[in-house]
Amino acid sequence: MQNTLIYLFLGLILASCGPKKAPQNDPRFNSLKIQFQAEAAARGVEVSDGELSIPISFGNAGLENDGVCTVPGMGKNAFSAAANTLFNRDNFERKFIKINPSILEKDLFYIEAVVFHELAHCLFGRDHTDSKSLMNESQENNTDYPLKRTLYLDELFGMDTNFLEFGRLNFCPIVDDELEPIEEASYEAFGRELSHSLFKPSETRDQFCVLVELK
Ligand SMILES: [Zn+2]
Repeated sequence: MQNTLIYLFLGLILASCGPKKAPQNDPRFNSLKIQFQAEAAARGVEVSDGELSIPISFGNAGLENDGVCTVPGMGKNAFSAAANTLFNRDNFERKFIKINPSILEKDLFYIEAVVFHELAHCLFGRDHTDSKSLMNESQENNTDYPLKRTLYLDELFGMDTNFLEFGRLNFCPIVDDELEPIEEASYEAFGRELSHSLFKPSETRDQFCVLVELK
């Protein structure tokens, strides 16, 4: 009888402390993942399909958090120096990302910024910074992200970045004499569309400009 109780007790401990499973990937995040991989590749950074298989799902990401990069049973950010020793880039398959469903109230630029932020935690081990960056703790601080997306992504993927690089960067006039954008991104996620194009100065415009469309 005593043994039975001990085994029951051990069983309960193991059941509560055993490895919990990562949630299933929500395929609605896949186009954002593919865009992350494409933006990385455009900047000479390879993100493998294996790394990209990291599960992303909606769930409780912690109080007032838009998202979290974590590991089963940890319940909090897994990007600290200690956590990255245990769960470094080679152990990406143990990590997963949870996104607070409340971000669906925001536009696709905001959603992209949150998902890219968490992917950079999980896949690159990037920590938070107070500097101008998608790794700033709150995307509320990055209100110029739609305008300066190119520069934010340069910074995210480890390039030397000067946020004044394109001068007084502004949104393009609605009617313009544009040729081809020098950089362009366009994709769908959550039934919405995002497009972002960067144009160099023209005969009628002496500054770089950005055309943004959200549908
Ligand atoms: Zn973070």
